[in-house]
Amino acid sequence: MNEKKSAREGDLVLPGDYLGVIEEYMPGNGVKEENGELYAVIAGRVRIDPEKMEISVEPITDTPPLPKVNDVVIGRVIEVKSQSVIVQLIKIEGRENDREIATSKLAGIHVSQVKPGYVEDLSKEFKIGDIIRARVISNEKSPIQLSTKGPDLGVIYALCTRCRTPLVRRGDRLVCPRCGNVETRKLSSLYRKVTV
Ligand SMILES: [Zn+2]
Repeated sequence: MNEKKSAREGDLVLPGDYLGVIEEYMPGNGVKEENGELYAVIAGRVRIDPEKMEISVEPITDTPPLPKVNDVVIGRVIEVKSQSVIVQLIKIEGRENDREIATSKLAGIHVSQVKPGYVEDLSKEFKIGDIIRARVISNEKSPIQLSTKGPDLGVIYALCTRCRTPLVRRGDRLVCPRCGNVETRKLSSLYRKVTV
């Protein structure tokens, strides 16, 4: 008599836990087969794919996702210095279902990575509070380094610095529909086309 119970979707398992038999499921990631029986090789949550009849174990990690090189991220400008901009990351594009990035995660954009050519005054390209779309160019050191070179990268949402009204794009400038203030930014072609 086999008293062992098969694992169910969502069960938490530890390495070595019995999951079922090969007649029930194909072993997927995090699962090994031994004499026709399936066991977890990592700690995590059981996932059963009913179409493929495959059982796998999804690892549980406490570390929020770290952006990879070439990931496109959305962030908020929290500081504009003379040589760099400090950005608080909000999310990684295309990984919306993942847990949010730790809110403490900061990134930097060096003045040389803002746009092609020479940037004389960073405060004409970014302002505190701007929402930006940028590409990760290095994640080895802290803060993560970003680039806004590229037509679809740069500021995607900005408020008027005088009256905090969302600015409207007019050509390569931003205009305040309330007070008429005109501002400049390193604009993305997706300005106000991306929901955050
Ligand atoms: Zn205004």
